[in-house]
Amino acid sequence: MTIAAPREPAPETRVALVPETVAALTRAGHSVIIETHAGLAAGHTDADYERAGASVVPGIDLAAIDVLAHVTPLPPEAIARLRRGAVTIGLMAPFTDERLAALTEAGVTALAFEKVPRTSRAQAMDVLSSQALAAGYRCVLEAAIRLPRFFPLAMTAAGTVPPAKVVVLGIGVAGLQAIATAKRLGANVAANDIRPSSAEEARSVGATFIDVGLDTSEGTGTGGYARALGDDSAARQQAALAPHIADADVLITTAGVPGQAAPRLATAEMVAAMRPGSVVVDMLAASGGNVEGSLPGQDVKVASSRGDGEITIVGLTVPAADLPADASRLYAKNVQNMVNLLDTDDGFAVIFDDDILEGAAITHDGANRLEPAPQPAP
Ligand code: NAD
Repeated sequence: MTIAAPREPAPETRVALVPETVAALTRAGHSVIIETHAGLAAGHTDADYERAGASVVPGIDLAAIDVLAHVTPLPPEAIARLRRGAVTIGLMAPFTDERLAALTEAGVTALAFEKVPRTSRAQAMDVLSSQALAAGYRCVLEAAIRLPRFFPLAMTAAGTVPPAKVVVLGIGVAGLQAIATAKRLGANVAANDIRPSSAEEARSVGATFIDVGLDTSEGTGTGGYARALGDDSAARQQAALAPHIADADVLITTAGVPGQAAPRLATAEMVAAMRPGSVVVDMLAASGGNVEGSLPGQDVKVASSRGDGEITIVGLTVPAADLPADASRLYAKNVQNMVNLLDTDDGFAVIFDDDILEGAAITHDGANRLEPAPQPAP
């Protein structure tokens, strides 16, 4: 089969296939086509891809390939050029009517990573997890570089420096990685989430769990995800978190609810109550923001109500794209594992009795298979 990966449009820095996965796919008997300069931002030259067995071309003939692996959701113009029966593998949200209509019209099987079930077997294709891992790590580095203090305890002849206090809100894949990274840097970490299993998960990576006294069944949604809290519970959560945030040097927020705007966990007043010099990193700034006042891609300075000085609120956009080499390496392995699922003895057919393909296929053979769902926040 012929599998292709395009040069992603700026500002995306990741690439859907890296030379290592190209070599594995060609060893398995596939042909791989890579668009010129597709891997440059992730550290891979065209020559690296050619050495791995790919053909590098200035423009991919989309009508002549079987599988298109991509990172950025495909625009309708590109979709229209694919051949009927081709398969796309990549991120596809937001699932706009326009994109779904183009995919349906083109008769392609679109496998959207956002729809891969969060099961043990699907972990090898779980892009949300692999990219959240990079994102959680990145959140801590963004904070550490801006904080005018050490993260670790330092006992020196020149005196003792206490460890930084870090609060992490949202203990999913990104939050766990943020906790682990902050711990590795030597900080004291406390964390909160609304799923029942989150307390144990936080403790397993060295954080203290902040119990806000809520009935955790309220925050439990389907498929292991959280559900939005009602207004009363959300207000109680904010009130209980406020003293922990005020006492923190760093606040990192990674809390998401699928298909909905990010829950508001910290108000402007709660942030202003932090010490001057403190840093807030909002990973969900582009999805509505966990923190009031955060702006995607910007550092916002706000006055501390505790005296002269400011707090920096860092709004992230796509933090995994700031680690393009390893984020692409993990992404490409997820793509390769998805291709392996498709590559059966019966030919390169999509098998709908496989729950991973069944979940991921948002269109197939001219049909829109996506259940009506709330659109993610812009
Ligand atoms: P996510 O990105 O949807 O959300 C991040 C975290 O924010 C979640 O832990 C969620 O509970 C939390 N959150 C939502 N609202 C909150 C609020 N008001 N206050 C505090 N926290 C809030 O989550 P994710 O990282 O994609 O993980 C979602 C679930 O899937 C988790 O249970 C995770 O363990 C599970 N998971 C399973 C697998 C697997 O088995 N293959 C892989 C990855 C994740």
